Amino acid sequence: MDSRLVSQLSAIVGREHVSDAEAERLCAAYDGTGREYPPEAVIWPQTAAETSRILALAHREGVPVVVRGAGSGMTGGALPVKGGLVLATSRMNRILEIDPANQLAVVEPGVVTGVLQAEVGRQGLFYPPDPASLKFCTIGGNVAENAGGPSAVKYGVTRDYVKGLEVALADGRLIHTGARTDKGVVGYDLTRLFVGSEGTLGVITKIILRLLPRPQARRTTLVMLDSLSQAARLVAKALARFTPCALEFMDRTTIGLTAELLPLPLPSGVEAILIVEQDGSPLAVAAEAAELAAFLEAEPGVRLVTQAQGQEETEAIWAARRGVSPAAFKLRPHKISEDVVVPRTRIPDLVALAETLARELDLVIFCFGHAGDGNIHLNIMLDRHDLRQAEAAQTARRRIFAQVIGLGGTLSGEHGVGITKSEAISLEIDPATLAAMRAIKQALDPAGILNPGKIFPQNG
Ligand SMILES: Cc1cc2nc3c(=O)[nH]c(=O)nc-3n(C[C@H](O)[C@H](O)[C@H](O)COP(=O)(O)OP(=O)(O)OC[C@H]3O[C@@H](n4cnc5c(N)ncnc54)[C@H](O)[C@@H]3O)c2cc1C
Repeated sequence: MDSRLVSQLSAIVGREHVSDAEAERLCAAYDGTGREYPPEAVIWPQTAAETSRILALAHREGVPVVVRGAGSGMTGGALPVKGGLVLATSRMNRILEIDPANQLAVVEPGVVTGVLQAEVGRQGLFYPPDPASLKFCTIGGNVAENAGGPSAVKYGVTRDYVKGLEVALADGRLIHTGARTDKGVVGYDLTRLFVGSEGTLGVITKIILRLLPRPQARRTTLVMLDSLSQAARLVAKALARFTPCALEFMDRTTIGLTAELLPLPLPSGVEAILIVEQDGSPLAVAAEAAELAAFLEAEPGVRLVTQAQGQEETEAIWAARRGVSPAAFKLRPHKISEDVVVPRTRIPDLVALAETLARELDLVIFCFGHAGDGNIHLNIMLDRHDLRQAEAAQTARRRIFAQVIGLGGTLSGEHGVGITKSEAISLEIDPATLAAMRAIKQALDPAGILNPGKIFPQNG
Protein backbone atom coordinates (compact mmCIF):
# COMPACT_ATOMS: atom_id res chain seq x y z
CA MET A 1 0.00 0.00 0.00
CA ASP A 2 1.08 3.55 -0.77
CA SER A 3 3.32 4.65 2.16
CA ARG A 4 1.60 8.05 2.32
CA LEU A 5 -1.71 6.30 3.00
CA VAL A 6 -0.14 4.02 5.61
CA SER A 7 1.19 7.12 7.43
CA GLN A 8 -2.23 8.74 7.34
CA LEU A 9 -3.81 5.57 8.75
CA SER A 10 -1.08 5.40 11.42
CA ALA A 11 -1.97 8.92 12.47
CA ILE A 12 -5.50 7.66 13.24
CA VAL A 13 -4.79 4.41 15.13
CA GLY A 14 -1.08 4.55 16.04
CA ARG A 15 1.78 2.96 14.07
CA GLU A 16 1.51 -0.42 15.83
CA HIS A 17 -2.15 -0.82 14.83
CA VAL A 18 -1.76 -0.70 11.07
CA SER A 19 0.48 -2.96 9.02
CA ASP A 20 1.33 -3.80 5.45
CA ALA A 21 3.79 -6.52 6.48
CA GLU A 22 3.39 -9.77 4.56
CA ALA A 23 2.75 -11.86 7.69
CA GLU A 24 -0.19 -9.67 8.78
CA ARG A 25 -1.56 -9.52 5.25
CA LEU A 26 -1.50 -13.33 5.02
CA CYS A 27 -3.22 -13.71 8.40
CA ALA A 28 -6.11 -11.57 7.10
CA ALA A 29 -6.25 -13.28 3.70
CA TYR A 30 -8.41 -16.35 4.44
CA ASP A 31 -11.76 -17.35 5.90
CA GLY A 32 -13.86 -20.51 6.30
CA THR A 33 -13.91 -21.06 2.52
CA GLY A 34 -10.17 -21.86 2.49
CA ARG A 35 -9.58 -19.29 -0.28
CA GLU A 36 -6.85 -16.66 0.00
CA TYR A 37 -6.89 -12.99 -0.97
CA PRO A 38 -4.24 -10.96 0.87
CA PRO A 39 -5.20 -7.32 1.47
CA GLU A 40 -2.77 -4.44 0.86
CA ALA A 41 -2.79 -3.59 4.59
CA VAL A 42 -4.57 -4.46 7.84
CA ILE A 43 -5.81 -1.95 10.42
CA TRP A 44 -7.05 -2.55 13.97
CA PRO A 45 -9.09 0.43 15.24
CA GLN A 46 -10.19 0.48 18.89
CA THR A 47 -13.09 2.91 18.74
CA ALA A 48 -16.00 3.99 16.58
CA ALA A 49 -14.36 7.41 16.18
CA GLU A 50 -11.21 5.80 14.74
CA THR A 51 -13.33 3.57 12.47
CA SER A 52 -15.17 6.62 11.25
CA ARG A 53 -11.93 8.47 10.40
CA ILE A 54 -10.49 5.41 8.61
CA LEU A 55 -13.62 5.21 6.44
CA ALA A 56 -13.61 8.94 5.69
CA LEU A 57 -10.00 8.61 4.49
CA ALA A 58 -10.65 5.43 2.47
CA HIS A 59 -13.69 7.11 0.92
CA ARG A 60 -11.65 10.14 -0.18
CA GLU A 61 -8.90 7.92 -1.59
CA GLY A 62 -11.21 5.29 -3.16
CA VAL A 63 -9.65 2.43 -1.16
CA PRO A 64 -11.76 -0.74 -0.62
CA VAL A 65 -12.42 -1.57 3.05
CA VAL A 66 -13.31 -5.11 4.14
CA VAL A 67 -14.38 -5.64 7.75
CA ARG A 68 -13.06 -8.76 9.43
CA GLY A 69 -14.33 -10.33 12.64
CA ALA A 70 -12.87 -13.79 13.27
CA GLY A 71 -12.70 -14.73 9.59
CA SER A 72 -14.86 -17.82 10.15
CA GLY A 73 -17.40 -16.93 7.45
CA MET A 74 -18.25 -19.70 5.01
CA THR A 75 -18.97 -17.60 1.90
CA GLY A 76 -15.90 -15.39 1.51
CA GLY A 77 -17.46 -12.29 3.11
CA ALA A 78 -14.26 -11.24 4.89
CA LEU A 79 -12.01 -11.80 1.87
CA PRO A 80 -10.59 -8.65 0.23
CA VAL A 81 -11.20 -9.89 -3.30
CA LYS A 82 -10.59 -6.41 -4.75
CA GLY A 83 -7.59 -5.66 -2.53
CA GLY A 84 -7.52 -2.62 -0.25
CA LEU A 85 -7.67 -2.50 3.51
CA VAL A 86 -8.88 -5.12 5.96
CA LEU A 87 -10.40 -3.46 9.02
CA ALA A 88 -10.18 -6.02 11.84
CA THR A 89 -12.48 -5.63 14.84
CA SER A 90 -10.41 -7.65 17.33
CA ARG A 91 -9.54 -4.56 19.44
CA MET A 92 -13.19 -3.47 19.60
CA ASN A 93 -14.00 -6.33 21.92
CA ARG A 94 -15.53 -4.83 25.05
CA ILE A 95 -18.85 -5.78 26.60
CA LEU A 96 -19.90 -2.23 27.44
CA GLU A 97 -22.99 -2.97 29.50
CA ILE A 98 -25.16 -5.79 30.76
CA ASP A 99 -28.49 -4.53 32.12
CA PRO A 100 -30.32 -7.43 33.83
CA ALA A 101 -33.37 -5.35 34.75
CA ASN A 102 -34.00 -4.33 31.14
CA GLN A 103 -32.58 -7.60 29.77
CA LEU A 104 -30.13 -6.09 27.32
CA ALA A 105 -26.42 -5.91 26.60
CA VAL A 106 -24.42 -3.31 24.70
CA VAL A 107 -21.32 -4.72 23.03
CA GLU A 108 -18.58 -3.84 20.59
CA PRO A 109 -18.48 -5.92 17.39
CA GLY A 110 -15.30 -7.87 18.16
CA VAL A 111 -16.74 -9.62 21.23
CA VAL A 112 -16.58 -13.39 20.74
CA THR A 113 -20.10 -14.88 20.82
CA GLY A 114 -19.25 -17.59 23.36
CA VAL A 115 -17.62 -15.03 25.67
CA LEU A 116 -20.80 -12.95 25.66
CA GLN A 117 -22.95 -16.02 26.30
CA ALA A 118 -20.81 -17.03 29.27
CA GLU A 119 -20.76 -13.50 30.69
CA VAL A 120 -24.53 -12.95 30.50
CA GLY A 121 -25.06 -16.51 31.81
CA ARG A 122 -23.16 -15.58 34.99
CA GLN A 123 -25.82 -12.91 35.54
CA GLY A 124 -28.72 -15.33 35.06
CA LEU A 125 -29.33 -14.16 31.50
CA PHE A 126 -29.34 -15.88 28.12
CA TYR A 127 -28.22 -14.86 24.63
CA PRO A 128 -29.68 -17.69 22.51
CA PRO A 129 -28.06 -17.57 19.02
CA ASP A 130 -25.59 -20.45 19.02
CA PRO A 131 -23.65 -20.90 15.77
CA ALA A 132 -21.37 -23.95 15.97
CA SER A 133 -18.47 -21.49 15.62
CA LEU A 134 -19.42 -19.61 18.81
CA LYS A 135 -16.09 -20.27 20.52
CA PHE A 136 -14.31 -18.04 17.99
CA CYS A 137 -16.75 -16.05 15.81
CA THR A 138 -17.66 -12.47 16.74
CA ILE A 139 -20.99 -10.81 17.42
CA GLY A 140 -20.20 -8.28 14.65
CA GLY A 141 -19.73 -11.14 12.18
CA ASN A 142 -22.93 -12.78 13.48
CA VAL A 143 -24.92 -9.58 12.93
CA ALA A 144 -23.39 -9.05 9.49
CA GLU A 145 -24.30 -12.63 8.48
CA ASN A 146 -27.47 -12.98 10.57
CA ALA A 147 -25.97 -16.14 12.05
CA GLY A 148 -28.05 -18.89 13.57
CA GLY A 149 -27.64 -22.26 15.21
CA PRO A 150 -29.58 -25.19 16.62
CA SER A 151 -31.53 -22.99 19.05
CA ALA A 152 -33.12 -21.08 16.13
CA VAL A 153 -35.99 -23.60 16.04
CA LYS A 154 -37.26 -22.16 19.34
CA TYR A 155 -35.46 -18.84 19.80
CA GLY A 156 -34.83 -17.49 16.30
CA VAL A 157 -31.59 -16.14 14.86
CA THR A 158 -29.27 -13.18 15.52
CA ARG A 159 -31.72 -10.76 13.86
CA ASP A 160 -34.27 -11.48 16.59
CA TYR A 161 -31.88 -10.23 19.30
CA VAL A 162 -30.56 -7.03 17.72
CA LYS A 163 -32.39 -4.01 19.14
CA GLY A 164 -30.15 -1.32 17.74
CA LEU A 165 -26.83 -0.56 16.11
CA GLU A 166 -24.18 2.09 15.77
CA VAL A 167 -22.80 1.99 12.24
CA ALA A 168 -19.98 3.88 10.53
CA LEU A 169 -21.12 4.58 6.98
CA ALA A 170 -18.83 4.41 3.95
CA ASP A 171 -18.01 8.14 4.14
CA GLY A 172 -17.30 7.97 7.88
CA ARG A 173 -20.59 9.35 9.24
CA LEU A 174 -21.79 7.52 12.36
CA ILE A 175 -25.47 6.59 12.50
CA HIS A 176 -27.62 5.03 15.23
CA THR A 177 -30.49 2.65 14.47
CA GLY A 178 -33.21 1.12 16.63
CA ALA A 179 -33.74 1.74 20.33
CA ARG A 180 -32.94 0.27 23.74
CA THR A 181 -36.62 -0.36 24.36
CA ASP A 182 -38.41 -3.47 23.12
CA LYS A 183 -40.89 -1.42 21.18
CA GLY A 184 -39.96 1.34 18.75
CA VAL A 185 -41.37 2.37 15.39
CA VAL A 186 -39.83 5.77 14.77
CA GLY A 187 -38.50 5.91 11.24
CA TYR A 188 -37.45 3.10 8.92
CA ASP A 189 -36.17 -0.13 10.48
CA LEU A 190 -32.54 0.37 9.48
CA THR A 191 -31.43 -2.19 12.07
CA ARG A 192 -32.95 -4.97 9.99
CA LEU A 193 -31.31 -3.54 6.87
CA PHE A 194 -27.83 -3.78 8.38
CA VAL A 195 -28.39 -7.25 9.85
CA GLY A 196 -27.20 -9.67 7.19
CA SER A 197 -25.66 -6.92 5.04
CA GLU A 198 -22.27 -8.70 5.04
CA GLY A 199 -20.13 -5.60 5.54
CA THR A 200 -21.37 -4.02 2.31
CA LEU A 201 -23.39 -1.12 3.77
CA GLY A 202 -21.43 0.03 6.83
CA VAL A 203 -19.12 -1.02 9.63
CA ILE A 204 -21.05 -2.01 12.75
CA THR A 205 -19.30 -0.42 15.74
CA LYS A 206 -21.79 -1.05 18.56
CA ILE A 207 -24.68 -3.48 19.07
CA ILE A 208 -27.59 -3.37 21.53
CA LEU A 209 -28.73 -6.94 22.15
CA ARG A 210 -31.91 -8.33 23.66
CA LEU A 211 -31.41 -10.95 26.36
CA LEU A 212 -33.73 -13.52 27.95
CA PRO A 213 -33.79 -15.16 31.39
CA ARG A 214 -31.45 -18.18 31.40
CA PRO A 215 -33.35 -21.51 31.26
CA GLN A 216 -32.58 -23.46 34.44
CA ALA A 217 -32.54 -26.93 32.91
CA ARG A 218 -31.96 -28.76 29.64
CA ARG A 219 -32.50 -32.33 28.51
CA THR A 220 -31.06 -33.86 25.36
CA THR A 221 -32.63 -36.84 23.61
CA LEU A 222 -30.90 -38.91 20.96
CA VAL A 223 -33.13 -40.73 18.47
CA MET A 224 -31.89 -43.34 15.99
CA LEU A 225 -34.08 -44.23 13.04
CA ASP A 226 -34.38 -46.69 10.18
CA SER A 227 -34.90 -44.07 7.50
CA LEU A 228 -34.53 -40.38 6.85
CA SER A 229 -38.05 -39.97 5.50
CA GLN A 230 -39.40 -41.39 8.75
CA ALA A 231 -37.16 -38.91 10.60
CA ALA A 232 -38.62 -36.01 8.60
CA ARG A 233 -42.18 -37.16 9.25
CA LEU A 234 -41.34 -37.44 12.91
CA VAL A 235 -39.92 -33.92 13.01
CA ALA A 236 -43.15 -32.43 11.66
CA LYS A 237 -45.23 -34.49 14.10
CA ALA A 238 -43.00 -33.69 17.09
CA LEU A 239 -43.11 -29.95 16.39
CA ALA A 240 -46.90 -30.04 16.48
CA ARG A 241 -46.69 -31.17 20.13
CA PHE A 242 -43.38 -29.96 21.56
CA THR A 243 -41.27 -26.79 21.45
CA PRO A 244 -37.69 -28.09 21.58
CA CYS A 245 -34.78 -25.65 21.75
CA ALA A 246 -32.88 -27.79 19.21
CA LEU A 247 -33.93 -30.38 16.65
CA GLU A 248 -31.00 -31.52 14.59
CA PHE A 249 -30.59 -34.36 12.10
CA MET A 250 -27.67 -36.31 10.66
CA ASP A 251 -27.87 -38.55 7.59
CA ARG A 252 -26.14 -41.91 7.16
CA THR A 253 -22.79 -40.56 5.88
CA THR A 254 -22.71 -37.85 8.54
CA ILE A 255 -23.33 -40.39 11.30
CA GLY A 256 -20.31 -42.38 10.12
CA LEU A 257 -18.06 -39.33 10.58
CA THR A 258 -18.45 -38.89 14.33
CA ALA A 259 -20.27 -42.01 15.58
CA GLU A 260 -17.37 -42.86 17.88
CA LEU A 261 -18.08 -39.69 19.89
CA LEU A 262 -21.63 -40.77 20.77
CA PRO A 263 -22.19 -41.99 24.34
CA LEU A 264 -23.42 -45.40 23.12
CA PRO A 265 -22.62 -47.83 20.29
CA LEU A 266 -24.44 -47.37 17.01
CA PRO A 267 -26.81 -50.25 16.14
CA SER A 268 -26.44 -51.52 12.57
CA GLY A 269 -28.84 -50.21 9.94
CA VAL A 270 -29.36 -46.77 11.47
CA GLU A 271 -30.03 -44.36 8.59
CA ALA A 272 -30.74 -41.14 10.48
CA ILE A 273 -30.21 -39.54 13.86
CA LEU A 274 -32.26 -36.80 15.48
CA ILE A 275 -31.02 -34.77 18.44
CA VAL A 276 -33.84 -33.14 20.33
CA GLU A 277 -33.18 -30.73 23.20
CA GLN A 278 -35.73 -29.24 25.59
CA ASP A 279 -35.16 -26.42 28.06
CA GLY A 280 -37.04 -24.56 30.76
CA SER A 281 -37.62 -24.98 34.50
CA PRO A 282 -36.32 -28.29 35.95
CA LEU A 283 -39.80 -29.63 36.69
CA ALA A 284 -41.23 -28.72 33.30
CA VAL A 285 -38.22 -30.14 31.45
CA ALA A 286 -38.38 -33.44 33.35
CA ALA A 287 -42.09 -33.83 32.56
CA GLU A 288 -41.78 -32.79 28.91
CA ALA A 289 -38.73 -34.99 28.32
CA ALA A 290 -40.61 -38.03 29.67
CA GLU A 291 -43.56 -37.19 27.44
CA LEU A 292 -41.24 -36.79 24.45
CA ALA A 293 -39.55 -40.16 25.06
CA ALA A 294 -42.92 -41.93 25.29
CA PHE A 295 -44.09 -40.21 22.10
CA LEU A 296 -40.90 -41.11 20.18
CA GLU A 297 -40.84 -44.74 21.30
CA ALA A 298 -44.32 -45.27 19.87
CA GLU A 299 -43.40 -43.92 16.43
CA PRO A 300 -42.67 -46.22 13.45
CA GLY A 301 -39.07 -46.43 12.28
CA VAL A 302 -37.62 -45.40 15.63
CA ARG A 303 -34.87 -47.87 16.60
CA LEU A 304 -33.63 -46.31 19.80
CA VAL A 305 -34.43 -43.39 22.06
CA THR A 306 -31.98 -42.42 24.76
CA GLN A 307 -31.88 -39.38 27.02
CA ALA A 308 -28.55 -37.97 28.17
CA GLN A 309 -27.88 -38.56 31.84
CA GLY A 310 -25.85 -35.61 33.03
CA GLN A 311 -23.57 -33.06 31.45
CA GLU A 312 -20.99 -35.54 30.16
CA GLU A 313 -23.46 -37.48 28.01
CA THR A 314 -25.06 -34.26 26.78
CA GLU A 315 -21.64 -32.95 25.76
CA ALA A 316 -20.85 -36.25 23.99
CA ILE A 317 -24.01 -36.00 21.87
CA TRP A 318 -23.26 -32.39 20.94
CA ALA A 319 -19.59 -33.20 20.30
CA ALA A 320 -20.76 -35.74 17.71
CA ARG A 321 -22.96 -33.08 16.06
CA ARG A 322 -20.50 -30.15 16.25
CA GLY A 323 -17.55 -32.34 15.24
CA VAL A 324 -19.08 -33.14 11.84
CA SER A 325 -17.55 -30.21 9.92
CA PRO A 326 -13.93 -30.82 10.93
CA ALA A 327 -14.31 -34.63 10.66
CA ALA A 328 -15.51 -34.28 7.04
CA PHE A 329 -11.92 -33.77 5.89
CA LYS A 330 -11.33 -37.47 6.59
CA LEU A 331 -13.33 -38.04 3.38
CA ARG A 332 -11.66 -35.66 0.89
CA PRO A 333 -9.33 -32.65 1.27
CA HIS A 334 -11.80 -29.90 0.24
CA LYS A 335 -15.38 -29.09 1.10
CA ILE A 336 -18.12 -27.11 -0.60
CA SER A 337 -20.54 -26.33 2.17
CA GLU A 338 -24.05 -25.14 1.33
CA ASP A 339 -26.61 -24.08 3.95
CA VAL A 340 -29.80 -24.25 1.95
CA VAL A 341 -33.27 -24.18 3.51
CA VAL A 342 -36.38 -26.07 2.40
CA PRO A 343 -39.76 -26.52 4.07
CA ARG A 344 -38.93 -29.10 6.76
CA THR A 345 -41.30 -31.69 5.28
CA ARG A 346 -39.23 -31.61 2.07
CA ILE A 347 -35.87 -32.48 3.70
CA PRO A 348 -36.06 -36.10 2.42
CA ASP A 349 -36.51 -34.84 -1.20
CA LEU A 350 -33.31 -32.86 -0.95
CA VAL A 351 -31.36 -35.61 0.77
CA ALA A 352 -32.58 -38.06 -1.89
CA LEU A 353 -31.29 -35.70 -4.60
CA ALA A 354 -27.95 -35.44 -2.79
CA GLU A 355 -27.68 -39.24 -2.75
CA THR A 356 -28.58 -39.48 -6.45
CA LEU A 357 -26.01 -36.82 -7.36
CA ALA A 358 -23.33 -38.51 -5.26
CA ARG A 359 -23.96 -41.75 -7.16
CA GLU A 360 -24.32 -40.23 -10.65
CA LEU A 361 -21.38 -37.85 -10.35
CA ASP A 362 -19.17 -40.08 -8.19
CA LEU A 363 -18.92 -37.52 -5.39
CA VAL A 364 -19.05 -37.73 -1.61
CA ILE A 365 -22.06 -35.72 -0.38
CA PHE A 366 -23.51 -35.68 3.12
CA CYS A 367 -26.31 -33.76 4.83
CA PHE A 368 -26.94 -32.72 8.40
CA GLY A 369 -28.33 -29.71 10.19
CA HIS A 370 -31.33 -28.02 11.61
CA ALA A 371 -34.25 -30.34 10.86
CA GLY A 372 -36.64 -28.17 12.86
CA ASP A 373 -36.32 -25.22 10.50
CA GLY A 374 -35.37 -27.08 7.31
CA ASN A 375 -31.87 -25.55 7.21
CA ILE A 376 -29.68 -28.27 5.74
CA HIS A 377 -25.91 -28.27 5.69
CA LEU A 378 -25.24 -30.02 2.43
CA ASN A 379 -21.56 -30.77 1.98
CA ILE A 380 -19.79 -31.85 -1.17
CA MET A 381 -16.38 -33.31 -0.42
CA LEU A 382 -13.79 -33.25 -3.20
CA ASP A 383 -10.22 -32.77 -4.23
CA ARG A 384 -10.33 -29.33 -5.88
CA HIS A 385 -7.21 -30.08 -7.91
CA ASP A 386 -8.99 -32.96 -9.62
CA LEU A 387 -10.69 -31.31 -12.60
CA ARG A 388 -13.35 -33.99 -12.95
CA GLN A 389 -14.37 -33.72 -9.29
CA ALA A 390 -14.33 -29.89 -9.42
CA GLU A 391 -16.65 -29.85 -12.45
CA ALA A 392 -18.92 -32.55 -11.01
CA ALA A 393 -19.23 -30.55 -7.77
CA GLN A 394 -20.36 -27.46 -9.69
CA THR A 395 -22.94 -29.54 -11.57
CA ALA A 396 -24.19 -30.92 -8.25
CA ARG A 397 -24.46 -27.38 -6.78
CA ARG A 398 -26.48 -26.14 -9.75
CA ARG A 399 -28.93 -29.04 -9.50
CA ILE A 400 -29.22 -28.66 -5.73
CA PHE A 401 -29.92 -24.91 -6.02
CA ALA A 402 -32.56 -25.52 -8.70
CA GLN A 403 -34.26 -28.13 -6.50
CA VAL A 404 -34.15 -25.87 -3.42
CA ILE A 405 -35.84 -23.03 -5.30
CA GLY A 406 -38.32 -25.50 -6.82
CA LEU A 407 -39.26 -26.73 -3.34
CA GLY A 408 -39.95 -23.16 -2.18
CA GLY A 409 -36.72 -22.84 -0.22
CA THR A 410 -33.86 -20.36 -0.03
CA LEU A 411 -30.17 -20.64 -0.96
CA SER A 412 -28.81 -19.62 2.44
CA GLY A 413 -30.20 -19.93 5.95
CA GLU A 414 -27.24 -18.50 7.82
CA HIS A 415 -23.97 -18.27 5.88
CA GLY A 416 -24.97 -15.44 3.54
CA VAL A 417 -24.01 -14.87 -0.08
CA GLY A 418 -20.46 -13.44 -0.05
CA ILE A 419 -18.63 -14.50 -3.19
CA THR A 420 -19.58 -18.16 -3.26
CA LYS A 421 -23.28 -17.62 -3.98
CA SER A 422 -23.21 -14.21 -5.69
CA GLU A 423 -23.61 -15.70 -9.16
CA ALA A 424 -26.59 -17.76 -7.96
CA ILE A 425 -28.70 -15.13 -6.22
CA SER A 426 -30.67 -14.22 -9.30
CA LEU A 427 -32.07 -17.76 -9.17
CA GLU A 428 -33.91 -16.64 -6.04
CA ILE A 429 -34.22 -12.86 -6.24
CA ASP A 430 -36.12 -11.30 -9.13
CA PRO A 431 -34.58 -8.43 -11.16
CA ALA A 432 -36.76 -5.68 -9.63
CA THR A 433 -35.89 -6.75 -6.08
CA LEU A 434 -32.21 -7.03 -6.94
CA ALA A 435 -32.35 -3.53 -8.46
CA ALA A 436 -33.88 -2.20 -5.20
CA MET A 437 -31.01 -3.80 -3.26
CA ARG A 438 -28.44 -2.26 -5.61
CA ALA A 439 -30.10 1.15 -5.17
CA ILE A 440 -29.71 0.87 -1.37
CA LYS A 441 -26.06 -0.07 -1.80
CA GLN A 442 -25.56 2.87 -4.17
CA ALA A 443 -27.24 5.31 -1.75
CA LEU A 444 -25.18 4.24 1.27
CA ASP A 445 -21.88 3.53 -0.47
CA PRO A 446 -21.81 5.53 -3.72
CA ALA A 447 -18.08 5.01 -4.25
CA GLY A 448 -18.45 1.25 -3.72
CA ILE A 449 -15.60 0.99 -1.20
CA LEU A 450 -17.34 -1.30 1.32
CA ASN A 451 -16.64 -4.96 0.69
CA PRO A 452 -16.70 -4.70 -3.12
CA GLY A 453 -17.34 -7.87 -5.14
CA LYS A 454 -19.78 -9.35 -2.60
CA ILE A 455 -23.45 -10.39 -2.74
CA PHE A 456 -24.26 -9.00 -6.22
CA PRO A 457 -23.47 -10.95 -9.38
CA GLN A 458 -20.40 -9.46 -11.04
CA ASN A 459 -21.75 -9.94 -14.56
CA GLY A 460 -25.00 -8.06 -14.82
C1 LIG B 1 -16.61 -24.65 12.06
C2 LIG B 1 -17.59 -23.57 11.67
C3 LIG B 1 -18.91 -23.70 12.08
C4 LIG B 1 -19.84 -22.71 11.73
N1 LIG B 1 -21.11 -22.86 12.17
C5 LIG B 1 -22.03 -21.89 11.91
C6 LIG B 1 -23.36 -22.02 12.37
O1 LIG B 1 -23.73 -22.97 13.04
N2 LIG B 1 -24.22 -21.03 12.08
C7 LIG B 1 -23.85 -19.93 11.36
O2 LIG B 1 -24.67 -19.03 11.15
N3 LIG B 1 -22.60 -19.80 10.88
C8 LIG B 1 -21.67 -20.74 11.14
N4 LIG B 1 -20.39 -20.62 10.66
C9 LIG B 1 -20.04 -19.46 9.83
C10 LIG B 1 -19.47 -18.25 10.60
O3 LIG B 1 -18.91 -18.63 11.84
C11 LIG B 1 -20.54 -17.19 10.80
O4 LIG B 1 -20.93 -16.65 9.54
C12 LIG B 1 -20.11 -16.02 11.69
O5 LIG B 1 -21.21 -15.16 11.86
C13 LIG B 1 -18.94 -15.22 11.11
O6 LIG B 1 -18.40 -14.43 12.15
P1 LIG B 1 -16.91 -13.87 12.04
O7 LIG B 1 -16.67 -13.02 13.23
O8 LIG B 1 -15.96 -14.97 11.82
O9 LIG B 1 -17.05 -12.96 10.75
P2 LIG B 1 -16.10 -12.87 9.47
O10 LIG B 1 -15.98 -14.19 8.80
O11 LIG B 1 -14.86 -12.17 9.84
O12 LIG B 1 -16.97 -11.91 8.56
C14 LIG B 1 -18.17 -12.36 8.01
C15 LIG B 1 -18.86 -11.20 7.29
O13 LIG B 1 -19.26 -10.22 8.23
C16 LIG B 1 -18.70 -8.95 7.91
N5 LIG B 1 -18.43 -8.29 9.20
C17 LIG B 1 -17.74 -8.78 10.25
N6 LIG B 1 -17.75 -7.89 11.25
C18 LIG B 1 -18.46 -6.81 10.81
C19 LIG B 1 -18.78 -5.54 11.37
N7 LIG B 1 -18.40 -5.19 12.60
N8 LIG B 1 -19.50 -4.67 10.63
C20 LIG B 1 -19.90 -4.99 9.37
N9 LIG B 1 -19.61 -6.17 8.79
C21 LIG B 1 -18.89 -7.06 9.50
C22 LIG B 1 -17.46 -9.27 7.09
O14 LIG B 1 -17.11 -8.19 6.25
C23 LIG B 1 -17.93 -10.47 6.31
O15 LIG B 1 -18.70 -10.06 5.20
C24 LIG B 1 -19.44 -21.59 10.95
C25 LIG B 1 -18.11 -21.47 10.55
C26 LIG B 1 -17.20 -22.45 10.90
C27 LIG B 1 -15.78 -22.27 10.45
